[in-house]
This record gives sequence, structure tokens and C-alpha cells, in this order.
Amino acid sequence: MTESGSQTDQDSLGLYVHIPFCTSKCAYCAFYSEPVHRHDTHRLMQAIHTELAQHDTRSVCTAYIGGGSPSSLPTSELTDLVKAIMSRCPDLAEFTVECNPGQVTLARLKQWHDLGVNRLSMGAQSFDAGELRCLGRSHDADTIKTAVHLARQAGFNNLSLDLIFAICGSTPATWQASLNQAIALHPEHISAYALTLEPGTPLAEAVAQGRQLAVDESTDMAMYEQAIAALTQAGYEQYEISNFARPGYTCRHNLGTWLNHPYLGIGPSAASSSGTTRTQNFSDIKTYVAAMESGVSPVETSVATRPMDRICETAVLNLRTRHGIDVQRFRQVTGQDPHVLFAGPIRRYCEQGLLTIEENRIFLTARALPIADSVLCDFAAL
Ligand code: SF4
Repeated sequence: MTESGSQTDQDSLGLYVHIPFCTSKCAYCAFYSEPVHRHDTHRLMQAIHTELAQHDTRSVCTAYIGGGSPSSLPTSELTDLVKAIMSRCPDLAEFTVECNPGQVTLARLKQWHDLGVNRLSMGAQSFDAGELRCLGRSHDADTIKTAVHLARQAGFNNLSLDLIFAICGSTPATWQASLNQAIALHPEHISAYALTLEPGTPLAEAVAQGRQLAVDESTDMAMYEQAIAALTQAGYEQYEISNFARPGYTCRHNLGTWLNHPYLGIGPSAASSSGTTRTQNFSDIKTYVAAMESGVSPVETSVATRPMDRICETAVLNLRTRHGIDVQRFRQVTGQDPHVLFAGPIRRYCEQGLLTIEENRIFLTARALPIADSVLCDFAAL
């Protein structure tokens, strides 16, 4: 297992493969995914293999198979993809597969581990039966616990659990119970995000119709602070607004994103960024497969990134991490001095106690974290 540090190499390329299948649709989810039983998974995976083979992936150092729910794929399809990535990316240091707790068996987990997957990201979301029902998750709390034990048995020593707070009907007490149960499983990494009511999802509709009650903003913020307190006390370091890790287990792949390194996305709806251009593949599975089968590019949109937009984007992404903007690295990468470029917002937020300057770093204070988006939007454009 590679223990990832807090920085990644500037030249590193992150690979993301999007598997757009799920067994059923969760009530809060607005991601592009389709029911796995309605599709020819083999045909899509062939298209994904074809797209993967079209790229030079020798400099890839982190890979992430996400979705959707990659574990909803038939075992052989996912195994073949893992093998292909291992053989095409010789310098892989971190290889994550996202999985649904209800879709793993010891045999499957052992197979992924033995092939070279060294990190699992498990969508737990909550340990409360009512909250899991509200989210439309297809697993219960015991299934999460069993899945974690199986992953340990299979040899995984880098495991991440995703949690959601401010779920309709939740309280600080139910959230604390979920945090406690997650911590008791000793995952190396925990991500904690507030529920977003995405327009058009069944859960957003239920709230609009009064069938579910949304958590109010102040309770939402209190729950976020509750997570920081509980996880920090349990020995996790908050290294990004929503991400916590035991020392040495920050997610190297995601750190690459927050450092604004280039990334390559493969599969339907996957996005890529070369630094100068951002592309996005066709979201629709049929269109994507048809493009790959007829030798046409699967890219639906390609937008040149203006240098100043990229500089601002780098500042915003860096500020999401607790390390913040590393002034020296920012100068090296962008050719600009953040103190000059963002003099206005830096002065304003320092005065308000929401930003701190320390030696070589500019970073959000603890007080800024619950309202980070409103601070970061002032760095998003010049
Ligand atoms: S498993 Fe994940 S991607 Fe699939 S529907 Fe649920 S939340 Fe969305």
C-alpha cells in the first residue's frame, strides 16, 4: 500500500473511469447512471477498453473507478477493467474502486485486492435505518459493517467510508450515532458531505410536497461542525473541507484534483482536463458506445480553458484543502503571486477572520469552513 503524502507530483496524471450503472436509483441522486439490468454491460465495457487504449496512460499515478456503482458490474467485467488499468499504468501508486456495501463478497474483494486495487471507497452514507430508507439506499447498517470486515479479510488496509449528514429527518443525535459507528469500524478515511437536494430527484420532490422535512441551515452547519469535532477527536486529520484521513492516508487521487493537476476521464459522461482544454464525453450510454464502435471521438464538448480561469480555479481548489494555497507552488505553477492577484478578497477575509496567512500558505480558518463556498466564490473569477 502506498501511503500518500499531502502533496502529489506536478506531472502526475489522474485516471478516472466512470461506470454509469447502478442496481437501483437512490432518491437523492442526480448523477448520470442507468439500471445495470437494462444494459449490455459487456458492450459498454468493450467501448471503455477501446477508449482507454487510445490514451497514453504511462504517467498515470492514481486511478479511480467510480460511478454509478462499479460494483454493480458483473465480476468478470470489473476484473477485466482492473487488469487493463494495471497493465496500462505501470507507475500506479493508488488504485481506488468505489463500491456499494451490498454488492461485495469476500471472493470479489480478494480478486480486486490481489490484482492491485489498494484502496476501497464505500458508500455507507448513514447507519440509521430511517435515513437509509429516506435516501433510497439498498443496504442497511449491518451490511456496511459486514462489507468493512470482508474488505479487511481480503487484505485492504486503505478503506474510505462516505457519509451524508443533514438527511431529512436526521438529528444531531442520529448523526452522532452514525459518526460513532463509522469511527468504530476504523476506516483510514472518511468523507462527510451535507445532503444536497438536487432538483428533479424524488427526495427533492418529497421535500417540495411536504412529505419529507429538510434539515434547516443552522442545524446543517452544526452537524458539519459536529463531524469535524468527532472525527478530529478520533484521530482523523481534516485535510479538505469534507475529507478526513488518518495520518498517511489522504486520498492522493483527490489531492491531485485539488492541486488542479491534469486528469483523464474515460467512459460515458467522464470529464478530462489537460490544463489548457476541458472535455466531456457523451453522457448517454448508447451514443457513447456508438461513437466508440464506429471509431469516432466520444467527446461531446471541448472547451479551451482561459489562462486566467485556470489560475482562479487553482486558487479555489487549493483553498478547499486545509493546507490552502501554497504560495511558492502557486507561483511556480501559474506564474502569478496570489497575494497580488487576490489582494482584495485576501485582505477582506483576513479582516473577517475567515482567512489566515502563515509563512508560505494562505488558508481558510476553522470558522470559514461551514461557509466556505461563499468565501471561495470571491476567488473564482477576476
Ligand atoms: S449508488 Fe450512487 S450513483 Fe447509484 S444511484 Fe445511488 S447515489 Fe447515485
